[in-house]
Amino acid sequence: MKPLATIQQRLGWKLFLSYLVIIVVGVVSLAVTAELHAPTALARHVAGMEDIMGGNMGMMADLNESVRRAINEVLAVAATAAFLAAMIISSFVTRRIVGPIETMKQVSQRIAAGDYRQRVSVPGQDELGALAGSFNQMAETLEQTEERRRQLIGDVAHELRTPLSNIKSVMEGLLDGVLPAEPATFLDVQREVSRLQRLVYDLEELSRAESGQIPLELRPVAPAVLIHAAANQLQPQFEDKGVRLRVDLPADLPQVLVDPGRMTQVLLNLLGNALQYTPASGQVTIQAASNGSEVSVMVQDTGVGIATEHLPHLFERFYRVDKSRSRAGGGSGIGLTIAKHLVEAHGGRIWATSPGSNQGSNFTFTLPVAQ
Ligand code: ADP
Repeated sequence: MKPLATIQQRLGWKLFLSYLVIIVVGVVSLAVTAELHAPTALARHVAGMEDIMGGNMGMMADLNESVRRAINEVLAVAATAAFLAAMIISSFVTRRIVGPIETMKQVSQRIAAGDYRQRVSVPGQDELGALAGSFNQMAETLEQTEERRRQLIGDVAHELRTPLSNIKSVMEGLLDGVLPAEPATFLDVQREVSRLQRLVYDLEELSRAESGQIPLELRPVAPAVLIHAAANQLQPQFEDKGVRLRVDLPADLPQVLVDPGRMTQVLLNLLGNALQYTPASGQVTIQAASNGSEVSVMVQDTGVGIATEHLPHLFERFYRVDKSRSRAGGGSGIGLTIAKHLVEAHGGRIWATSPGSNQGSNFTFTLPVAQ
């Protein structure tokens, strides 16, 4: 490698050269000053000694020459000492600054090659330490994103497997003549295809919600209007199953600032779940209250309930307490995840509580009051 290219590509060499330039500039300015100023200064000092020296000008010239040589000698020694000091200091600084940067470079190359577990050690509390800290934070985020991506692919593959293998076995049964070619058989296939369609739709919604790409058309709306509309839409299904749906709202609820379509989606999801997980002759109640700055809406059911250990995971995608029960109802385990994203996009919160299995569940979300 050419020397200039080496210097351009090595921070250590650049540091060393910068020290060298400072030393050269220092020595040259000292030499020039000594050259220009020393004879005058010396002549002035010696003038006072003329009496002692008896005006001997030859001796004066010798003295001048000796002083110049002495100064040059001292400068040469000082320059050598400064050069050595520059070498020692620059190698120390290089190790201190370039070392961690070099490590970060190597680690970032390993991360770029797909090893997201790599981290660098934080060398101190200065800017380099802060850089190493930010670097580790970035590596952590990359690792989590990669983990989520892997998990998502695994989850989606798992979700696709069951309906696809069901369709395949029905088709094989039809081809082999084991299953009769009658409406009930085709209905089985149709049900699985609907499940796949719903999964694809939910995944699209989830991907839009997770990347914040669901546009919200916010406007002030009376919560009661949204709640009654959602309840009326599902009323026939509640009646079919024999579950009572009760709407119990205070008269003085303030308006909330929401996208009515998206809020109806959240309400339908919570009411649909409450209906699905509440056996016949149970009851689902929708209540609401306001504390002045936000309105909270609560969907309470007397259904199967949720054991405490499941509560923190309900809003994670594909999380289902009872997979077979959820699947039987066509659930993809994404509904609550989308609901959470939608509520949070409105500036609200959503959470679930339950006294335990078979003791019913409560799902509550808040919405900001329209100013
Ligand atoms: P799914 O489409 O499976 O219903 P959700 O995301 O809507 O997916 O719900 C996730 C899981 O939370 C469900 O599978 C179920 O186990 C649980 N869950 C949701 N709502 C209720 C409820 N009202 N009562 C009991 N469990 C519920």
